[in-house]
Amino acid sequence: MELNNDIKVLDGTVVDQIAAGEVIERPAQLLKELVENSLDAGAKEVEISVTSDLSFISVTDDGSGIKESDLPRVFLRHSTSKLRETKDLLELSSFGFRGEALSAIGSVSKAQIETRHKSDESGHLYVYENGKEVIFEKSTKDEGTKITITSLFDSTPARKKFLKSKRHELTLVKRVINSFALNNFDKSFKFILDGKLNFYFKSSSSMEERYSQVFKGQKVFKVEIPTCDVIQEGSFLYLEEPSIEAKTGLGLWIFVQNRYIQDKTIAAAIREGLNTYLMHGTFPRGVVDLKIRKDFIDVNVHPMKSEIRYENSSYIYKTIRRSVSDWAYAAPWKEEVIESSRASKVVDKLEHFEFNKPSKPTFSEKSASFSVQSPVEQRPLEFSDLGIQYKTTHGDLKSSRVQAVLKKEDDFEPYWSKLMVIGQVNLTYIVAQSEEAVFFIDQHAAHERVAFERLKLQWEKSESSEVQNLLMPLNIDMDEMSADILIELSGDLKNIGIEIEAYGPGSIALNALPGFLREESVEKGLRQLAKDHQSVGGGSSIEEIFELFFATLACHSVIRAGHAMSDDEMRLLLLNMDKYHSRYCPHGRPVYKKISFQSLDQDFGRVV
Ligand code: ADP
Ligand code: MG
Repeated sequence: MELNNDIKVLDGTVVDQIAAGEVIERPAQLLKELVENSLDAGAKEVEISVTSDLSFISVTDDGSGIKESDLPRVFLRHSTSKLRETKDLLELSSFGFRGEALSAIGSVSKAQIETRHKSDESGHLYVYENGKEVIFEKSTKDEGTKITITSLFDSTPARKKFLKSKRHELTLVKRVINSFALNNFDKSFKFILDGKLNFYFKSSSSMEERYSQVFKGQKVFKVEIPTCDVIQEGSFLYLEEPSIEAKTGLGLWIFVQNRYIQDKTIAAAIREGLNTYLMHGTFPRGVVDLKIRKDFIDVNVHPMKSEIRYENSSYIYKTIRRSVSDWAYAAPWKEEVIESSRASKVVDKLEHFEFNKPSKPTFSEKSASFSVQSPVEQRPLEFSDLGIQYKTTHGDLKSSRVQAVLKKEDDFEPYWSKLMVIGQVNLTYIVAQSEEAVFFIDQHAAHERVAFERLKLQWEKSESSEVQNLLMPLNIDMDEMSADILIELSGDLKNIGIEIEAYGPGSIALNALPGFLREESVEKGLRQLAKDHQSVGGGSSIEEIFELFFATLACHSVIRAGHAMSDDEMRLLLLNMDKYHSRYCPHGRPVYKKISFQSLDQDFGRVV
C-alpha cells in the first residue's frame, strides 16, 4: 500500500469516536460514567431508567446541576470542572477528572440534558447529536440533572456488533448499579426497567442494612482492619459467613478509594485469610473498601479505571489476610461455636508453632518473601501472581539467623553518614547532600526504620542490649489466651530485651524493656503481638508476626515530625541508617527522596 495522503489532524468528531471506544465500550460503562457524575455532583438520590434492549438509558439526580454557562462545554473533550492542574491528580476525590466521558458519549449517541443549577434563574434543556448542539433552551426542570441517552452506538455499528446478548448487557448494568449501591449506603438508588420499578434501595444507615437490601436479606459481618498510615481511616471490610457457597469470585466487591475495581492482591488476601474456613473451590462474598494513602496509588492507569495501581501491595496483602483470619477465628456468625473451637484451636496453633524461615531474613516491601504454612494442607501455597516468593527451610534457625547477621555486617558501607548535613526543613525533613545529589530524609520514617531494624537484629542475634529493669513491674491485663501466648513467646521476647512473666490468669507483668522503647509502646506492641499470633492458624509464620510486632514498637517509640533536631541528632540518625539501612519505613513509606544535581541542571536548562 502506498501512503500518498497528506498528513492531517483528525476531525474532532472522529477523535472523539476513537476515544469513545476506550471509555465507553458498552452500555454498562456509559451508565457508570453517568452515575459517577451524579455522585460527583453530590447527589443523594439517583434514579436510573432503561429499556431492556438498552436503547434508552437515563439517569436523574438531585445533585448540584449544571450551570447554563457550562452547558455548551460539557460535551467538549477534556472539559471538566474537577481537575485544573497535574498536581490535583494526587488529591483527587471525585470519580471523574479526565473530562472525557460526556464527550465520548456525545459522539456515539444522542444525548439530552435537563438540568438546573441553583445559581441559574431557570432550568435548561440541552440536546446534543452527532457532535453538535441542536437544542439549547430554558425548561421547567427545577433541581438536579437528568441525562438521557438514546441511539447508542448507532453511528459506530462495529462497536454495536461487539456487544454480547441484551440479557448479558443488562446484567452488567445491574452490576454497575449494585456496585454504587454497596459503596454508598447512605444514598438511594432506584432502578426502573421498561417503565416499571425494578428495585429501590432506600438510603440506609449501615452497610449491613444496604447489603441486605441488595442481596435480599443476606447477612454480612464487619471485619476490623487496623488503620495506619497506608490503609487509612474509613476503610472497611464486611464478609458473609464463609460457608455460604459462592462458586465464583464475583461475590466479592472490591473498592479502593470508593472505586469499584478488579484486584487480585486484595482478593487473594481475603481468600487466604479464610483459607481453613472456605471449602475448596468456593469463594468469599462481601464488600471491601480500602482508603489507601493517596500518593501510593495511581488511579489514572486504566481508561475505564477498573484497575488501580498501588505501591505496598505486600503490606496491604498481609494486613488484610491477618484481619480476615482473626475475624474468621472469632466466627462472629456463630456465637456458640467460639468457646468450643477456641480450645481446639490453641492446640492446633501450638502444634504449628515452628519456625519457617526463608534462609535469609528479608523484610523489603518491594520483594516480600515470607513463608506460609497452611495447617490443613501441608503444601506450599502459590502466590506467584503476587510476586511473592515461597520458601520453606526447616534448618537450624539460630545458625541461619547468625549467618544472616554476619552477612549484613559485611555489607556495611558508609553511605548516609558520608552525606553533608545541610539542615532540617519544616521540622520534618533532614536535607543533606552528596557529591552528586541532594537528599530529603523523612526523620520519622528513617528513625522508625532504624528502630525496627535494630529490634530485628537484636532478635536475630539473640542478644539484648541496654535493658532497662523496671522498679515497679507494669501489670498488663488481657484475655487468658493472649496472656498464655505471650508467656509462650517470652523466650523470644527476652532476646530483644523485653522480659515478662505470668501474673495470674489473664495478666502478665512487664519487668524489663530495651532502653530506647517506652513502656506504653511496649504494652501496645505486646497486645498487638498476642492478637497477631492468634492468626498463626491463618498461615503466618512467627517471623512475620515478630516483624509486625517490631513495626508497631518502632512506630510508637521514635521521633515524630515536628521535632527540631540538633546537628548531632541528625548525624547520629544518618549513622544509624547506615548500620540499619533501608529505603522504606516498616509501614512501607519511603524514607528519603533523592534529587540528582544532573536532573536539577536539566530543570534549570543548564544542560539539555
Ligand atoms: P469529568 O467527570 O471527568 O469531569 P465528564 O465528561 O464526565 O467529565 O463531565 C464533564 C463535566 O460535566 C463535569 O466535570 C461536570 O462539571 C459536568 N457534569 C456532568 N454530569 C453532571 C451531573 N449529573 N451533575 C452536575 N454536573 C455534571
Ligand atoms: Mg465524569
